[in-house]
Amino acid sequence: MKDNDCIFCKIAAGDIPATKVYEDDVVVAFKDLNPMMPVHTLIIPKEHYDNIADDIPDATLAHLMRTVGTVADAQGVRETGFRIIANTGADACQSVGHVHIHVLGGAPMNDGDPSLS
Ligand code: 5GP
Ligand code: ZN
Repeated sequence: MKDNDCIFCKIAAGDIPATKVYEDDVVVAFKDLNPMMPVHTLIIPKEHYDNIADDIPDATLAHLMRTVGTVADAQGVRETGFRIIANTGADACQSVGHVHIHVLGGAPMNDGDPSLS
C-alpha cells in the first residue's frame, strides 16, 4: 500500500527523481543521494513495507534479495565484492521507513565493521 508521506514510495512511483540503476514490476534500485562508497545503491520493493522484518510476502522478499546480484552486475562490483546492509529501527539508525537494502562497494571496506555512518 502506498504511503503518501514516504519518500521511497514517491521514488517508486516516479513522483520524485532518482538515478535508477534497475527497475522491474516489483523492485527499483537507485543511487543513494549521499553515497558512502563509490558504489552505493538502494534496492526497494515498490510496495511499502516498513523494514526487512515487516510482513513482506515471500516472493517479494526473494525478488528483493535476487536483485542484489542484478545490481552488483549493473554496478560492476560482483567480482570485486560488495556489502549489503538493511538498517532496521532506531538502534541501527534507519532513517527512511520503507525497507531498503544498501549495496556498497567499489573500494575496500573495513573488515567486519558493522557501521555505515
Ligand atoms: P537508512 O539510514 O534508512 O538505512 O538509509 C536511508 C538512505 O536513503 C540514506 O543513505 C540516504 O542518503 C538515502 N536517501 C534519503 N533520501 C533520499 C532521496 O530522496 N533520494 C535518494 N536517492 N536517497 C535518499
Ligand atoms: Zn514507502
